[in-house]
Amino acid sequence: MNAKLSAVKGMNDILPPESARWEWFESKVRELMRAYGYRNIRTPIVEPTALFVRGIGEVTDIVEKEMYSFTDALNDEQLTLRPENTAAIVRAAVEHNLLYDGGKRLWYTGPMFRHERPQRGRYRQFHQVGAEALGYAGPDVDAELILMARRLWSMLGLQGLRLELNCLGQADERARHRAKLIAYFEAHAGELDEDARRRLHTNPLRILDTKNPAMQPLVQGAPRLLDELGEESRAHFDGLQQLLREAGQDFVINPRLVRGLDYYNLSVFEWVSEQLGAQGTVCAGGRYDGLVEQIGGKPAPACGWALGIERVLDLLAQAGLAGAAAPPDVYVVLAHAPALASALQTAEALRAAGLGVLMHAGGGSLKSQMKKADASGARFALIFGEQEWLAGEVGLKALRETSALQQRSVPLQPASLLLDCLR
Ligand code: ATP
Ligand code: MG
Repeated sequence: MNAKLSAVKGMNDILPPESARWEWFESKVRELMRAYGYRNIRTPIVEPTALFVRGIGEVTDIVEKEMYSFTDALNDEQLTLRPENTAAIVRAAVEHNLLYDGGKRLWYTGPMFRHERPQRGRYRQFHQVGAEALGYAGPDVDAELILMARRLWSMLGLQGLRLELNCLGQADERARHRAKLIAYFEAHAGELDEDARRRLHTNPLRILDTKNPAMQPLVQGAPRLLDELGEESRAHFDGLQQLLREAGQDFVINPRLVRGLDYYNLSVFEWVSEQLGAQGTVCAGGRYDGLVEQIGGKPAPACGWALGIERVLDLLAQAGLAGAAAPPDVYVVLAHAPALASALQTAEALRAAGLGVLMHAGGGSLKSQMKKADASGARFALIFGEQEWLAGEVGLKALRETSALQQRSVPLQPASLLLDCLR
């Protein structure tokens, strides 16, 4: 025997019956997006590396150490498996001039790739759903995006997710804050961990996002960007808070909530759960008014979020929500081999009428086939035996009735007769 092969570490197979939960979740997402007028967009999984370097920023965890990048041996192009999708959506919008007649509301789903240490809620291939509203300055659209996520939680039956908000202001406000932040951390240089020392002069805002418990007191006492906000930024932030309050949405302001990139500005938000251990952020988003220009388009404001599907499904599984795949309606038992063609035709006719039909395959005795029929969860077994076949009939047995009814014979023609028995 050849040696077994396994999936790449941190990249998971999604198998039945677990895959049913994914399908159920995806159907809810489609319903949600339709309800808000967001339209589906699909971009390639592989993009030029330069897109992410420019679109995410050089001094970020993702670009510094998490990207799966390679050189296409055939033409020497530098390529990357997408670690996130916002940069690609913006690239596509610019490339195809999608904003020529005004704003666009878009959504996507699919796999993302980051070379991280695999653990609960953190994988190397993971999946996101994202919503992006391009061309709108907000804060109405910021509120819409947040309420959209809230509606998804309620459609899924999830409770207890906390909304955290912050405002990152504009470039000049961040520059003032950055100077104060560097001065503060320099004055406490002895308390910085290695990561923080490395980021101090490249991306000090990111230090606020540290997960190191030993750094928490230091970070708690750091100068707040919120205190640097000018009138316009404040008005945007107040406007968003007002809309959320009026929509009955609670939130907490978390001054340490950041995205360490220059073109993220104004609103940032996260939906956080206490039930996921260290990886508690289920959905993260914010405004990125500078990105469209950064990717080469005419300046246009934008806002969006991305949620981690594995983390949402973890919550659903914990809550016992989201069910099994629907069983077939009918299981076809083939007790007499020459009846095969007739059985296949009947199965096709039932499927055309909208029924789910599982055709027995692989032979075996009537008894063993009936066992499989029962285990399939089907409501009915259709039994193609010799006697019935000779009479142009089929045996019908209800599998889920409590008063175990006897099998009866039903003529195959007209097909409507059999269909009526199966409804
Ligand atoms: P974290 O701080 O957990 O690393 P992040 O800031 O890198 O998150 P984003 O880039 O904002 O995450 O991605 C949005 C969402 O995608 C996250 O909130 C999370 O739910 C999910 N996500 C991010 N990275 C992973 C991963 N490696 N595995 C599974 N889900 C992930
Ligand atoms: Mg990360």
